[in-house]
Amino acid sequence: MDEKFDCIIVGAGIAGLAAAMILARNNMKFLLIEKGDFAGSKNVSGGVLWGSDLARLVPEYWKEEDGGWERYINHRRLTFMDRESTFSIDFKSSHFNAPPYSGVVVLRSRFDRWLADKVQEAIDDSDFAMESFIATSIKVDEVLMEDDKATGIRTGEEEFHADSVIIAEGVNNLLTRQAGLQDDYVPADHMLTGIKEVIRLDQKVLEDRFQLNGLSGMSNEFIGYATDGVEGGGFLYTNRDTVSLGLVAGIRDMREKEKSPHDLLNQFKNHPVIQDTIRGGEVVEYSAHVVSSGDKQVMPKALYKDGLLLCGEAANLLMNAGKAIQGMDFAMRSGILGAETIIHAKKKGDFSSQTLQEYRRKLDETYVMKDINQFQDAVHMLHSPEMFRDIPNLVCDFGRKFFTIDSKPTRKSRRLFAESVKKHSSYWDLIKLGFKGGKSL
Ligand SMILES: Cc1cc2nc3c(=O)[nH]c(=O)nc-3n(C[C@H](O)[C@H](O)[C@H](O)COP(=O)(O)OP(=O)(O)OC[C@H]3O[C@@H](n4cnc5c(N)ncnc54)[C@H](O)[C@@H]3O)c2cc1C
Repeated sequence: MDEKFDCIIVGAGIAGLAAAMILARNNMKFLLIEKGDFAGSKNVSGGVLWGSDLARLVPEYWKEEDGGWERYINHRRLTFMDRESTFSIDFKSSHFNAPPYSGVVVLRSRFDRWLADKVQEAIDDSDFAMESFIATSIKVDEVLMEDDKATGIRTGEEEFHADSVIIAEGVNNLLTRQAGLQDDYVPADHMLTGIKEVIRLDQKVLEDRFQLNGLSGMSNEFIGYATDGVEGGGFLYTNRDTVSLGLVAGIRDMREKEKSPHDLLNQFKNHPVIQDTIRGGEVVEYSAHVVSSGDKQVMPKALYKDGLLLCGEAANLLMNAGKAIQGMDFAMRSGILGAETIIHAKKKGDFSSQTLQEYRRKLDETYVMKDINQFQDAVHMLHSPEMFRDIPNLVCDFGRKFFTIDSKPTRKSRRLFAESVKKHSSYWDLIKLGFKGGKSL
């Protein structure tokens, strides 16, 4: 194939598919390359896709008979966990029942494939129905550069050329480094391993157990014993007839504490409360993937250079400040903005960094960079041992005493609380944490 594309996108994950959809709708000639057998085959996510951008890509997606999503979220739960107890903050509201939903649970192998089909439909409707492609089972080995400008990609012996390249390769950003946008070495302190099981339950049992109605769903994040003193946390999301149960754990912390992700997950699964939740279930899928901590320090030096843009988690666009992991919606928005920038560059006939810097400016104006900038302190706080070890132990210890009624004189709650503080932390540490929390949230 000698012809030149307007754009080559590397990676058919969320960022790459979002970019491809916008390019197809705007009559651009592009090649989307994915190394997996199909879009989504290599992807792992907990995962709730938050925000409203899906409705921009696939208007009224909720009306699709076989949409790629599982359930919409109207029930949120944050759980503190120690060895035997859980203490939860629980919020459910009918406010979240109407589309466009604020979050939908997805299973990536199904969702990405469905979204890729939608992109193919948009290609078929475009002026380049026969000249734009989604190519799977192809690994890009190199971004071709001439005078520090991206001119295409190489896969094996073959080269494909384009006016622009969007790298949307995800967190293992080898091409990003090869293109000189990130240092060769990313410290393990900034990376976590995500590990997840999909557990099948009879659909009626699942709906009754989690009080689901129609396609409503629940997301539950766990902090504390879920990772047994290792930086990170657990999650449980309801799908149509399965639950996604898993955790993310800091790579450095696991190494230092000599824990493996597999053992941590087994321990989490064997917690008495989790046992009750997944009773009777059958594991039908098991997967693991690296995920960024969302620390801004590891963001690549630049997100663009001549002929080149970086989208999604390849650019470390992710945030987890305690409320939710946001990687997919950040990837989607950055893919959309990346594609819009390429369309603008094509109109101008200029793909230099002078034009492509617009991408960074637009990204800075969106909630993606605003939130990343605004909540860095919260990200750091969440990753501190006080948060993933001491506070959950303290809260559960207090809960256990507070809810115990044992035919003995009831003690004042403040005394019970003081005891728990003494056992697991100190008032001074709590004041410091409260001050940090107040500042960062
Ligand atoms: C356990 C876990 C739970 C998570 N939970 C959530 C959640 O609940 N909500 C949320 O928003 N986010 C969550 N995330 C994060 C989220 O999954 C990522 O941030 C998001 O998938 C990033 O999207 P992306 O398109 O940038 O990259 P990816 O989705 O990783 O896609 C990259 C694609 O590029 C392809 N690729 C890579 N290199 C090449 C190459 N050289 N040639 C060709 N193709 C290539 C890959 O095969 C892949 O398909 C979770 C992550 C994990 C691991």
